[in-house]
Amino acid sequence: MFNIGCHLSSAKGMLAMGEDALSVGANTFQFFTRNPRGGKAKELDIADCNALNDLMAKHQFAKIIAHAPYTLNMAAKDEGLRKFAADTIADDMKRLSYTPSALYNIHPGSHVGQGPEKGIELITAVVSQILDMDFQTPLLLETMSGKGSEIGRSFEEIQTIINNCGNHPRLGVCLDTCHVWSAGYDIVNKLDDVLDEFDAVIGLDRLHAIHLNDSMTPFASNKDRHENIGKGSIGLDAITRIINHPKLRHLPFCLETPNDTPGHGVEIALLKTKYLA
Ligand code: FE
Ligand code: FE
Ligand code: ZN
Repeated sequence: MFNIGCHLSSAKGMLAMGEDALSVGANTFQFFTRNPRGGKAKELDIADCNALNDLMAKHQFAKIIAHAPYTLNMAAKDEGLRKFAADTIADDMKRLSYTPSALYNIHPGSHVGQGPEKGIELITAVVSQILDMDFQTPLLLETMSGKGSEIGRSFEEIQTIINNCGNHPRLGVCLDTCHVWSAGYDIVNKLDDVLDEFDAVIGLDRLHAIHLNDSMTPFASNKDRHENIGKGSIGLDAITRIINHPKLRHLPFCLETPNDTPGHGVEIALLKTKYLA
């Protein structure tokens, strides 16, 4: 079963996202838990969550991805900003208990000049605080492109956080194809080697989801510019190998390409022709 979907707007609510996903041939999707720049979440509507859960069960959806606001910085220098991140994540986790098939994805953070070691220490403190709470939703750290002072540009940095959190079973990884390519992992020419490296450093059992994006910028550029599938420096052939790779093909693939929902539908239809039954 090919698990493919795209990022959707949550403006119309949870059930509406499930319906939007179905309308573009998707069986998974991603959404921001609140305004991507942070701030207050919409009031929780449990009936709406249940309606989505029923729709997803009926249509055999794969896991869906709830994306944390990208302005949260668990590695911020300011303690108040780190507390804001922790409080927001905890509130998101509480809300996600009403959509049990959701995964929670977050950018590890940026060390803003404090150095990667300090950044990893600060991230570990927030992540372990969340994992100590009673939430069931898996928490995924996203692989990053390494722009600015981003943590998570290497598998080793992510593994250090996981290790420092006692290899908690609810801690996982979401691999973003644009980001790892930009970070210098050659998924175009050496996909097997990159996956072997991921397995050796982190363990493929921690990999829960793929953000499927092409890249506007060249290999190892440390830029974070998503491109539509087949239109960037990764290309359709490499993306076809990624969705069919025996170590990846069971995972949920989610597009974050610069397209509107109908445009994502066109990409999903194209990708379905490339997925080997
Ligand atoms: Fe992201
Ligand atoms: Fe991503
Ligand atoms: Zn990105």
